[in-house]
Amino acid sequence: MKISLARALGTCFGVQDAIDAALDPSFRDNLTIVGQLVHNPQVVEELRENGVRLVDSIDDEITTPNVMITAHGAARSVKEGLEARGFTVYDASCPLVMKVHNRVAALVEQGFFPVVVGQRNHVEVRGIVGDLKEYEVLGDPSEVERLAGRDRVGIVCQTTQQVEHARAIVDAIHARFPEIEVQFVDTVCRPTKDRQEAVRELADRVDLMIVVGGHNSSNTKKLKKVCDDRGLAAFHVERPEQLEESWFAGKSHVGITAGTSTPHGVIDAIYQRIRAISDGLEVGSRPVGGP
Ligand code: SF4
Repeated sequence: MKISLARALGTCFGVQDAIDAALDPSFRDNLTIVGQLVHNPQVVEELRENGVRLVDSIDDEITTPNVMITAHGAARSVKEGLEARGFTVYDASCPLVMKVHNRVAALVEQGFFPVVVGQRNHVEVRGIVGDLKEYEVLGDPSEVERLAGRDRVGIVCQTTQQVEHARAIVDAIHARFPEIEVQFVDTVCRPTKDRQEAVRELADRVDLMIVVGGHNSSNTKKLKKVCDDRGLAAFHVERPEQLEESWFAGKSHVGITAGTSTPHGVIDAIYQRIRAISDGLEVGSRPVGGP
């Protein structure tokens, strides 16, 4: 059985920079991260093992002097609130997320009603809209009715969306409200687009895709959706132990892709496990991640 990796997969620079900063020995013992730094269970475990504390929200008790804002970003009011409480705030917001914040601010400045295409409760989206007086978050073309009565809307996307999905929402607005002036800014980040393009290329060549990443990772789920939309058999796993031998029966070419928060060590372990299954070895007879 042939195994191929997508030409772009796994951890992006924004996530890697944030992980490296959190694990910096000079302050990791005195650091609390608010929210998941990345949507990946192995990375979260590594942080905990290194003494980094994690809390879900700024309302939770924080006992360290240093607080980190994650790569997903946060509203300015959240950062200022933490500083006002005496914490030293380390801002690991990805520059491509901050670009979305800036684009939204510019649209509002130009008089557009701000709209974000994304998941309403995702931490990145909450950060984007957190300082806005009014806004709308749209997750699906069926939701455009919420824009009734608006005359100018400025639209950005959560960085990990599929740009085609955002364009479908823009088209739905044009169709339902032809009178609304629409300004669309494509803010899907380049690493996300690279992974989406790479999985499409690979999907044309394989008969099974293994998608690796946290089950709560937005962009990992989008990679699986690319496969689902094509009718390609695909499974989303977080860990090598979750791979089932029966999935590979009769398959001749398996592809592997991974979301932007999936460490390359996890991808290697998945590859080795599939190789072992392919070689007919008993599962578990080879150390995970081994040669
Ligand atoms: S997915 Fe994109 S926006 Fe998010 S951290 Fe990675 S590079 Fe930055």
